Amino acid sequence: MLAYQNDTIAALATPPGRGGIAIVRVSGENARAYFEALFRPAGRQQVESHRLLYGHLYDADGAMLDECMAVLMLAPRTYTREDVAEFHLHGGDQIAREALAALYRLGARPAEPGEFTRRAFLNGRVDLSRAEAVMDVIGAQGEQAARAALRQLNGGASAFIRDAQQRLTDLLAGVAAALDYPEEIEEAEAAGSVIAGARALRDTLLSACDERAARLLDTGFEAALCGRPNVGKSSLLNALLCEERAIVTDIPGTTRDVVRGSILVAGLRVNLSDTAGIREQAETVEAIGVQRAREIMRAADLVLLVLDGSQPLTAEDEELLRETESYPRLILCNKADRGAAFELPGALRISAATGEGMDALRQELARRAGMPCELPLTSERHMRLARAAAQHLQTAANALENGQPLDLAAIDLHAALDCLGEVTGDRVDEKLLDSVFSRFCVGK
Ligand code: GDP
Repeated sequence: MLAYQNDTIAALATPPGRGGIAIVRVSGENARAYFEALFRPAGRQQVESHRLLYGHLYDADGAMLDECMAVLMLAPRTYTREDVAEFHLHGGDQIAREALAALYRLGARPAEPGEFTRRAFLNGRVDLSRAEAVMDVIGAQGEQAARAALRQLNGGASAFIRDAQQRLTDLLAGVAAALDYPEEIEEAEAAGSVIAGARALRDTLLSACDERAARLLDTGFEAALCGRPNVGKSSLLNALLCEERAIVTDIPGTTRDVVRGSILVAGLRVNLSDTAGIREQAETVEAIGVQRAREIMRAADLVLLVLDGSQPLTAEDEELLRETESYPRLILCNKADRGAAFELPGALRISAATGEGMDALRQELARRAGMPCELPLTSERHMRLARAAAQHLQTAANALENGQPLDLAAIDLHAALDCLGEVTGDRVDEKLLDSVFSRFCVGK
């Protein structure tokens, strides 16, 4: 049984700091009493549930704190399914702090991170995967990540997992029937259909675990700029970032450490790293940079090999062309404004100085980073559980194939069901909830 307290919690729901409005949110059994104790609507307005009112906020001693808007929302049609009150105060932290102090004096308690959403889950308003999506929506960087998080919030993972749970329950029902009516159902026949069903479901679960796509949504697509010194990597990074972030100089090898920046391309976050110029016989500091450059290139989703297109290829360029051949790679012939000294198939001609070819580069980045749309699972926790469930299904199918009895396979099918239950929160404990909600911000 999960602990559920309906004591009254309060927190600032908007980001701290200067801003137009600060919203203080209250939820729990005394939300209504505290609302009535501290807020007085102006004129003859009646307090009605879900109606935004104009008025004044007072502290517990009757001193006016602010002129504000406030709303009382009575259960069950609220975020937490408890009574909820919100005060829309003048921005800045001070008034919100005073309002919170007044609420605490009346008996409210400061909310833990994610506690409002935790209550929404415990009260059955959302399942766990949807509660988790709330935080993903807040943290989403780029349109694609936001869309994916919204799909999860609207039950994307839930629907997928519920369907898998249904298929598993059907398999278990088949096992139970065969065990209960051995004279009517042939065990070998029942085993055959469980094997087929378990394998098919395993495949469905594994195909939903696209870690790369989930990582792209979460942290972005990694593109590493590489090339010998002075070909224009820093200039290109700056042109893409539209700001003077990397230091651009004429002395070879000045970009010694890795400079990073992120851009949004077709709604997806693309992280660009400008690695140190890879040079043979480099001095020590630079040699470390070269080492890191190689590591970054290996880990990148795409290597952008920058060449100076206005000069003939050097031995160093040739070496880099060979070295990056096996990587996902895009060759950029920079300094196109100075003419073309050579042609390379598949290379893009660009100029970091004039902006020529930059749109084509952005389009190519978008194409290479292209995401499969409508991923059923996007959270690492959900994928880990789906993989564990798939493993149990595999074990069950193998056991049956090796002539093990049905009731033994049923143990693994139940274990698979338990894994899926942890995604939706049908099976949770305090520890799991603590770890999920500790990612949240206070006030959500
Ligand atoms: P990095 O060492 O590869 O990072 O190269 P930088 O970005 O520091 O550029 C080296 C030099 O080339 C600088 O003087 C830049 O102004 C110049 N440069 C970079 N891109 C272009 C370009 O597209 N056209 C021209 N004409 N000069 C460029």
